[in-house]
Amino acid sequence: MLTSIAGRSVIVTGASKGIGKGIANVFCRNGGRVLVVSRNLEEAEACAEELRCSGGTARGYAADVTRIGDMQMLADAAVAAHGGIDILCANAGIFPQAKIEDLSPEDWDHVVATNLKGTFLVIKACLPHLKNSDQGRVVLTSSITGPITGFPGWSHYGATKAGQLGFMRTASIELASHGITINAILPGNIRTESLMALGPEYERSMAASIPLKKLGTVEDIGYAALFLASKEAAYITGQTIVVDGGQTLPESLDAVARA
Ligand code: NAP
Repeated sequence: MLTSIAGRSVIVTGASKGIGKGIANVFCRNGGRVLVVSRNLEEAEACAEELRCSGGTARGYAADVTRIGDMQMLADAAVAAHGGIDILCANAGIFPQAKIEDLSPEDWDHVVATNLKGTFLVIKACLPHLKNSDQGRVVLTSSITGPITGFPGWSHYGATKAGQLGFMRTASIELASHGITINAILPGNIRTESLMALGPEYERSMAASIPLKKLGTVEDIGYAALFLASKEAAYITGQTIVVDGGQTLPESLDAVARA
């Protein structure tokens, strides 16, 4: 059992719903004091309220990861509310679909600004406070899409998710000098409101391609984040954990059906 999260100050970006909410929930249930971040304050506060009702310590906060000023105010708010920053889960991300011939330069910039630059901005803003922690941890939510796999319509998205890992490998060396670790989770297809909006056919075809024959839960990602943030994971940095039910393993289209 991992016992080292109790009382820790945790920021989770993109936590009003989906994977971020699952991460926030798992940290709360393990005694973390969590700042739930999204652009929509009402939704961030509603999520925090839900977590408090389950016995956790959580507050909602509105901030846009594409804005450095917002990120600096977020870091200050975490320090004011919880006395510092120990764990940063840089999770906020978007995945609009457009094939390259339909993808506009503006759409490209928006996805890069949110998923890749947003990762850099929130880490930059939180770094002075993470340095003061005796258990500084950064956990990124990347994806299998980009670093390992591809899917039509997600060239820009995949580029940002692979880019996060390139960023992480140099960041791990820089942050190590402050005793901070940084690692990334690569989720497969996780049952979130946004993913379900892609429709039942998407879910059916994905489930059929996954050896465990089902999509993952947001808590599956939360537990991987909890491990990477724990004292027990102190010697792991610059690494990735794939949480995909085996989706990236089959060698051929019919490999899962043959099992
Ligand atoms: P989601 O359900 O759509 O939730 C996205 C969250 O991010 C929301 O809380 C949203 O709230 C917030 N957000 C979006 N843009 C933001 C911004 N500029 N600043 C601050 N917050 C912002 O998404 P999800 O499926 O949970 O995905 C979360 C992360 O997991 C993403 O990085 C995604 O790439 C990754 N991922 C997801 C899957 C999957 O199967 N779902 C698979 C692999 C990787 P607001 O809109 O109110 O800001």
